[in-house]
Formats: sequence, C-alpha cells, structure tokens
Amino acid sequence: MSPFVSQRSKKNSQNCKIIVSSYVNGSTPSSEDLGHLVAKMQSTGADILKVVTTATNITDVSHIFKLIPHCQVPIIACVMGDRGLISQLLGPKFGGYLIYGSIGSGKDLIPGQPKLADLINIYKIGRLTRDTKVFGVIANPVGHSKGPILHNQAFRETGFNGVYVPLLVDDLSDFLKVYSAPDFAGFSVGIPHKEAAVKCCDEVQPLAKSIGAVNTIVRRKSDGKLVGYNTDCEGAISAIEDGLRGESGYKSSESSSPLAGKLFVLVGAGGAGRALAFGAKQRGARVVITNRNFERAKALANAVGGEAIPMEALERFCPETGMVLANTSAVGMQPNVDSTPLPKEAMEPYSLVFDAVYTPRETRLLREAKEAGKIVVSGLEMFIRQAIGQYELFTGNLAPTELMRKIVIRDF
Ligand code: NAP
Repeated sequence: MSPFVSQRSKKNSQNCKIIVSSYVNGSTPSSEDLGHLVAKMQSTGADILKVVTTATNITDVSHIFKLIPHCQVPIIACVMGDRGLISQLLGPKFGGYLIYGSIGSGKDLIPGQPKLADLINIYKIGRLTRDTKVFGVIANPVGHSKGPILHNQAFRETGFNGVYVPLLVDDLSDFLKVYSAPDFAGFSVGIPHKEAAVKCCDEVQPLAKSIGAVNTIVRRKSDGKLVGYNTDCEGAISAIEDGLRGESGYKSSESSSPLAGKLFVLVGAGGAGRALAFGAKQRGARVVITNRNFERAKALANAVGGEAIPMEALERFCPETGMVLANTSAVGMQPNVDSTPLPKEAMEPYSLVFDAVYTPRETRLLREAKEAGKIVVSGLEMFIRQAIGQYELFTGNLAPTELMRKIVIRDF
C-alpha cells in the first residue's frame, strides 16, 4: 500500500484521494494499540484513514473518540455492532470525517449503523459541534426508547446545544467511569439500571434514595459529580394532583396537595410502585398497597408507614369514598390488554383512577373508569411529566412543555 500511495504523481493526487483502511473484526483494540495502528496508516501518506472495529461493550467506543482528535489526517471511524452505535451518532462531535447511515430498515439494518433518516431528522447530525453536550438513555434493551425523538426536538426548540442518544449499557458503573468527561452531561436511566444507579451516583436526592431508584443522572457543572434524581415520582404524583384539581395542563404544585389526607390505593410494588408510594406519602396521603407478591407489598407498606392488603381483598376494599386508585403493576400492559387490576363494578368508592401503564394508551382500567364517571389520569401523562423534569435537570432551563406534550401524543 505504502509504495502505491507515495508513487502518486502530484497531478494525480489533486484529482484523486486515497483512503487507507483497516478493519478489526470482533473487537476494538486498546487506545494505545489503536494509536500505533493509526500512526502506521498515516505513515503511508494516505489522504484519509478509515478504521472499522467491533464493539463488545459500549465502553469500546471511547477508544475511538479519544483517537479521532489526535489523527493528523481526516479519519472515518466506525465501531460495528449494537453497542457501537454512538460511534456514528457522536462521530461528528469528536471530529470524524464522515459517518454511515443506512437506507434499509428492519432486518436490512446493519447492527450499529443508524438509519440515514434518523441521522437527518432526529439527530440533525450536521448541527453537532465539539461543544455539543451529550445526553442519553441508559438501558438494556434500549432500541425501543422514544427518548431521542422527544429530547432532541426539545433541545432544538430551545436552542440548547445538546444531543440525546440511546446508550446500550451492560454495566452502569463501568460506563460512568469511562464516559466521565464533562461532555457527557446527563442520562436518563431505564430498565434494568434504575436501582444500580443509586449506588453509582456521587449524590442522590433524598426522595430518590428512599424510593431506591434513580431515573435521571446529571453531571454537576461545578465539580463534575454525578447527582441522581427520580422524576417518575413527581411526574406521576403531580399528574394525579392536577387530575384531582380538575386541571389538565402542567402547573407547578400549589402549597397544599389535594392528596393530603386521601386514601391512596396502590397496585404494584415494583420500581414505579415505590416511586408513587413515597410520593403519595410525602404529599400527606394514607397509603394502602396491594401486590401479586404480598411480601413485597408488606415491605413497601412498612417503608412508607402504610397498610398492605392481599390482591384478593382489593375488590371488596371500601373503607370510605373518594379514594385514589393507582395501578403501577404491569397488569393491562400489551399484549395482555384485556386484563385489569380492578373490575368496573368495584370502582364505586374511587374518585380518581391512574394507570402507569401506557401501552396501550387507554388501558382497560382507564376505559372502564371513564365509563364509570371517574377522573382518569393516564400513564402517558406521567411519561410526559417525567421527561419534562429530566429536560429541566439536564439543561437548567424551563422545558418547552407544549412541544414535548405534542410530540409524545403525536409520535408515541
Ligand atoms: P417492575 O419494577 O418490574 O414491577 C412490576 C410490577 O408489576 C410488580 O409489582 C409486579 O408484581 C407486577 N406484575 C407484573 N406482572 C403481573 C401480573 N401478571 N399480575 C399482577 N402483577 C404483576 O416494573 P415497573 O418499572 O414498576 O413498571 C410497572 C409498570 O409501570 C409497567 O407497565 C411500566 O411500563 C409502567 N411504567 C410507566 C411509567 C410512565 O412514565 N408512565 C414509568 C415507569 C413504569 P410482583 O412484585 O408480584 O412481581
């Protein structure tokens, strides 16, 4: 290769550029080995370099991000595989010469290669600069996340120089250690990392600590420390409060909560259940919890000073009227759309019914609650509000709430 490159005539070199390429199958070399490889490729006199490696872990991509700025000639760098996707989504930020987008879809997509349409429409790749702050959703699996559609549009609407990408992470602690530069400014945390995130943050907001789950991590500008929050809790509780107040728009909470003194009946004791139990307790509600696994219901009831009742007792549970029912169990979620945690006939004592499930948008529980004349609050409303909370933590600015609401209703 080298003699060929060096034997080009001056005339030819103006008309024709030479790319020297290297493909590392099955792995990504260490930063040091990549440095040696690129030095050797540069010594051929190439006009452009192309390095393709394979990611076994998302942390592999960091070797490429470190390499690109030190390369003396333009470099095309691509890390193949699902875990290498950010090599393309963030390549221009780190100075990559060009990136790949696929015109295929579904099965035709090459793992790790983004769709061309997404690069253009969602990530607006041409707008990335070295100063662009990186945000993303950490989850496994992560491909289904609609976060990039929502947050990237919101950043653009407010003129915030940020990009939000899917991050397929196996080990949260390793990921956070490797991507520790100020450029990696904040993360949404999804299944299965919400509990591990409590331990991985330098500081955790007290409510998130009590809940035992962090769904938002922000790198504090002043000292680079990672601070953990839980916006699921405020998202759900404020939606229920506004439902009780007869409001539909997003408003900051008033001094006294309409939940104060109410009986709050919670179905489910998983991550979402814990967020709602602590949130309702904080607002002064009396919390009653039921769950398929009764031991979990009892443990959560103990943690919030509430009461646990067995699932079989829920239909007959009627100590007073005007209660709030909140489903945070997966009952009613696709594909089991005909299931419901409480039949219509047993809804009489409730004034408001909330369902955290948002696939489908209107669950059987919510449809029947509406038919029964109850106030209904959907999981989509919780989703919108938790995302608004994340946006404000990420940017320090007020979120474009109407736009975010419109995107979720239109695209989700
Ligand atoms: P999780 O931690 O895995 O908890 C799942 C809960 O559902 C547990 O209480 C579990 O009971 C219960 N459950 C599962 N299958 C059941 C069944 N067949 N019958 C009765 N109970 C069942 O999950 P999560 O994060 O709390 O999520 C729960 C639901 O909330 C999901 O549908 C999720 O999509 C939704 N969610 C919505 C939002 C939003 O923004 N709207 C946010 C977070 C979650 P056991 O303890 O007995 O297993």
